[in-house]
Amino acid sequence: MRGLVLEVAWFGEGDVARSALPEVLPRVFGGAVGLMGGRAPVSRYAVLLRPDYPSGMTQGTPREGSIQVHTPREVPLERVHQGALLSTLAHEYLHTWGREAGAELRVSSEPELGGEMRWFIEGFVHYLAQLALLESGAQELSVFLSTLGQAYASVSRHPLYGQESLAQASARFFDDPAAREFSYSGGMVVAFLCDLELRARGQGPLARFLDQVPPGRLPVEWGSWLAAWTRHTGSPEPVASWVQTASPLPFLDRVRRAGGEVRERERWVFDAGFDVRLEGLTVASIGPLVGAQGLVRGDVVVSVNGRAISSAEAFLRELDPTGKPSTVQLRRGSELLERPLHRASRKEYEVSASGGSVLRHWSLGYSHPGGG
Ligand SMILES: [Zn+2]
Repeated sequence: MRGLVLEVAWFGEGDVARSALPEVLPRVFGGAVGLMGGRAPVSRYAVLLRPDYPSGMTQGTPREGSIQVHTPREVPLERVHQGALLSTLAHEYLHTWGREAGAELRVSSEPELGGEMRWFIEGFVHYLAQLALLESGAQELSVFLSTLGQAYASVSRHPLYGQESLAQASARFFDDPAAREFSYSGGMVVAFLCDLELRARGQGPLARFLDQVPPGRLPVEWGSWLAAWTRHTGSPEPVASWVQTASPLPFLDRVRRAGGEVRERERWVFDAGFDVRLEGLTVASIGPLVGAQGLVRGDVVVSVNGRAISSAEAFLRELDPTGKPSTVQLRRGSELLERPLHRASRKEYEVSASGGSVLRHWSLGYSHPGGG
């Protein structure tokens, strides 16, 4: 890619030069640069990849000229680009846009002053990351659409969906994980709806709006965000009502109008992440569905239905596929516990584009950066 030199360090086993990364990473970063108008914030960027996190967990910390990403420790170099790595890289890299030179990126889990839009904005940036991957060819349209379908499903699962606005939920992020998921996923859905809206009005793709409000300067305060949107389009609507009122987001409707197909389906899931440690199969992350069943981080799975368990795959195989409880023996500290655990059903949306739909031609609206 012209104008941007990438340096990659992998802190695990294997030789980066012989992996897929030298081919894939320039595409991902090139996609982000292309989306943002063709100029990288800095000309040299270092990517540090550390395979030292539990299974299913990927986390990035962006700096002005470098990024460090922790990847799951059991995923080897050959497969590391197949997980959440690429979208994490695109996401964190996009955060660096529009920052004043030298400004340190603040990554904090503490509430900040005026931070009520923070988690909505995270979702917005995550949508841009998906778009950058689509643009660069690092992600297929079907994956892009299914990611959006998942975001909408998690919006619609929020217990207060239809009664609470995204702005209200966003303000409760720090005390309520359900509100966090709602506002983060809502940010993705609203960004997508904004993009569709601009295209439908012939006002260009979202990228043109971002010339004025780059991701690194997305205001944490809703008023200034809305003012920027109003300057760009002439009216605060419909975005103001998507964020400020509790009415459901028009995702399904807009997707169908753009020629997409949406299929609703029920899936039985067990939303926990595991880590294989010396003590055994350890619960490393907890989703809202299993959290409600009393499982906590650090629990060690001893057996399911009397059968000894040592891997996440074996654990999931042993659970009933539809939600009948299984007897799970756990070690929590020095205690031995028995819990009935089960999969929980959740609604999902499969989104696809067919025929000559608008969505199918999604990526044709941009000029491609040329890659390489
Ligand atoms: Zn972020």
